[in-house]
Amino acid sequence: MLALGAAGTAAASSGGAMYVATPKIKAVKCVSRCVRGGAVRSGGKIKLRGASLSDVKKVVFRGGRGSRDDVPVKVQSASDRSLAVAVPMRAQSGPVDAWAGKRVHATSSTSVRVVPPAAPTPNPRLTPAPGPADAGAPSLETATSRSLFAIDQRGGVTFSFRLGSVPAASVSVNLVRLDDGAVIQTFNPAVPTSGDVARVSWDGMIGGQPAPNGRYAFRMEAVAAGGAKAVNAAAGDIQRDAFDLRPALFPVRGRHNFGQGAARFGAGRAGHTHQGQDVLARCGTPLIAARGGVVKAKKYQSAAGYYLIIDGTGTGTDYGYMHMAAPSAYNVGDRVYTGDQIGVVGDTGDATACHLHFEEWSAPGWYSGGQPFDPLADLRAWDAYS
Ligand SMILES: [Zn+2]
Repeated sequence: MLALGAAGTAAASSGGAMYVATPKIKAVKCVSRCVRGGAVRSGGKIKLRGASLSDVKKVVFRGGRGSRDDVPVKVQSASDRSLAVAVPMRAQSGPVDAWAGKRVHATSSTSVRVVPPAAPTPNPRLTPAPGPADAGAPSLETATSRSLFAIDQRGGVTFSFRLGSVPAASVSVNLVRLDDGAVIQTFNPAVPTSGDVARVSWDGMIGGQPAPNGRYAFRMEAVAAGGAKAVNAAAGDIQRDAFDLRPALFPVRGRHNFGQGAARFGAGRAGHTHQGQDVLARCGTPLIAARGGVVKAKKYQSAAGYYLIIDGTGTGTDYGYMHMAAPSAYNVGDRVYTGDQIGVVGDTGDATACHLHFEEWSAPGWYSGGQPFDPLADLRAWDAYS
């Protein structure tokens, strides 16, 4: 298709010059699985309205800060003025980009609010698997240790299974990303003796990198010698032995709020600006590491009180926790995992109320060349699911 426009960009192609018109997004509307207030449930559909949309090949749900949570979707429209886009399960709220060619894109002026699907049903203890089974197939009980799994949480996520009295000739377990059905990892556990529990675990990494946010599930089959097969979940089941993978957990484990303007990042302070976000909570409320890593600093300071800085493993980001009631039990150099308790909320240092002062610093980190950035969007996102 050839589209000519003043704002077009020439791109070389084997047949000569081709002009890709710059798309325009004028409005974004939910058209399927809509939620009141204009939001869309993941798995639903949105429609972009605008101009030159027929050249758009890819739409990216940008989510929050940074590119790690970006989710691209292949698209095609016969119309220049409207483009339907399926909302993947792992898409997060944020603006969307519409790409025509490699260099030409438009960004929506507003955020698309994406409401995640209902959380997976927790199944931490072995229960009879509901998936379909042939007559004469082994009976199957399965369990999944977590339904919410944050990167770098201790122990990863573990899938367990037990076979009934009919022996299996073979078993296989796949870890599947439910957004697109991709098999992330295949496990080939030995066939356990009837009544014994077998286990496989995943650490949330793919090729040494944290896997993208989203919903994953263990999919198992057990086959009897005669070929009769049982599986743990029906096709399309997004609940059974499923878990949501997330980048971090909310650090304050109790009632809390984000205060008023003075609690915000960038608020004025005597001689400086506020470098973090305050989270108000009662003194004594447990504090956990939002993201695991290595302790970079542990000190007392007249303004920050007792504080702890964790260099988030694999993130480039440093995380700071200030005004703790007492020194953390962790020391410089210690490895802390996501979700480990690092202390409790206090009001040590220059604090007029009990609260956590939370900071995030870009690479290479806290007072080592990085810059503090506003952590409120991350805090709100983590608070929404944990
Ligand atoms: Zn503060």
